[in-house]
Amino acid sequence: MSSKFDLHSHSTASDGLCTPETLVARAAAAGLQVLALTDHDTIDGLASAQVAAAREGLILIPGVEISVTWQGATIHVVGLNIDPQNPELLAGLESILAFRRWRALEIGRRLAACGIPGAFEGARALATGALVGRTHFARFLVAAGQAADVASVFKHYLVKGKPGHVHGEWAKLEQAVAWIRAAGGEAVLAHPARYKLTHTKLRLLLRHFIDFGGRGIEVVSGSQSQEEGYRLAGLAIKLGLCASLGSDYHGEDFSRIELGRLPPLPSGCRPLWSDWPVAQTLSASAPTD
Ligand code: AMP
Ligand code: MN
Ligand code: MN
Ligand code: MN
Repeated sequence: MSSKFDLHSHSTASDGLCTPETLVARAAAAGLQVLALTDHDTIDGLASAQVAAAREGLILIPGVEISVTWQGATIHVVGLNIDPQNPELLAGLESILAFRRWRALEIGRRLAACGIPGAFEGARALATGALVGRTHFARFLVAAGQAADVASVFKHYLVKGKPGHVHGEWAKLEQAVAWIRAAGGEAVLAHPARYKLTHTKLRLLLRHFIDFGGRGIEVVSGSQSQEEGYRLAGLAIKLGLCASLGSDYHGEDFSRIELGRLPPLPSGCRPLWSDWPVAQTLSASAPTD
């Protein structure tokens, strides 16, 4: 199971483990032809990823994954084919990063209050980009021997109801989609099955997303099962949304997930990239037998 496209990945500019250059080289080695770099709330990795992609002969789609609060739930919206210089997008991302700076300090304070001092400094030392996210805290706590793995740090410290949890008020759904569109990009709802919404609530989210100008949903994701993919494909077709696919690769500590190792989109879906110039180039160069 491998795809020529992978439209969701992370680098050290946010909470991935590979530098943008290493990520692109790894994608090329995995046989990918098109990779989107979609770091959380920052476009800082895109310039060096573009340089590496030109060297590797891979097409790099400039992207971003924007943190959103919708009806109390944290939702991620991926923007693809964005102009990384667009002032409206940059201002929007900066407002989220400002919240992230405060939140990281607050997570550190809360962990200190429950007997884990130095977590902010530890997490910051592991972060090489513009943000210190929960993943950095999780990696630090594992390294400090507080938990066996990243998943158990989230479970015991960083999710709602746990001592290091800080409520996030991220961008509004309409803002995130508007910033992406202002930057000439296409908005895609990331990994919809991860939000654990009821069917009715997911339909409402998709209705709002479409009304605000959203274009597609991740039908295939490294963090969704194949069954969830089929269900989402049905919804996308019914609602006239395009289908996207992406591994959500963060590096080797999320070992189940590998760049480009994804099943194809279920039949009947309209691929998000069907009218991208790259789709014509790839189909023209595809073997005919
Ligand atoms: P943040 O945006 O800083 O709140 O962090 C969200 C990121 O944490 C996600 O993009 C994942 O990379 C990671 N994450 C969230 N939940 C988990 C989990 N249960 N196990 C491992 N990583 C997680
Ligand atoms: Mn992440
Ligand atoms: Mn996400
Ligand atoms: Mn992601």
